[in-house]
Amino acid sequence: MAKAEHLSLFEFQRKFTNEATCEEYMFHKRWPEGFVCPKCGHREYYYIKTRKHYECKRCSYQASLTAGTVMHKSKLPLQTWFWAIYLVVHDKRGRSALSLAGLFQLNYRTTWRLLHKIRHAMKERDANYKLLV
Ligand SMILES: [Zn+2]
Repeated sequence: MAKAEHLSLFEFQRKFTNEATCEEYMFHKRWPEGFVCPKCGHREYYYIKTRKHYECKRCSYQASLTAGTVMHKSKLPLQTWFWAIYLVVHDKRGRSALSLAGLFQLNYRTTWRLLHKIRHAMKERDANYKLLV
């Protein structure tokens, strides 16, 4: 599967229509062969929807879908992150927080922090800090 940030705008728009499709994408990137507990290797899990966590049925370890990515511990929807990353990566002139705040209907401060994290992650790519996994 092509990395999400390399898709054309049209493909991206069709692919990530809602939160569930973004989550599904993250899941398949993280566990291409199906869930594997990072702690004990067990393959069965409970899904904790409110926190987007996957709890191992054997050892109760809670694996987060966003661990190790720029989205980790964020309260924003994955879809907002996906789109923000996409727009930042594709706009070489640099998106202003103000223009994105309008697009996402978020306040300026939240948008500024979102952009800051994405730009930081882009700079640190080699340092194991991934965007869309
Ligand atoms: Zn486990």
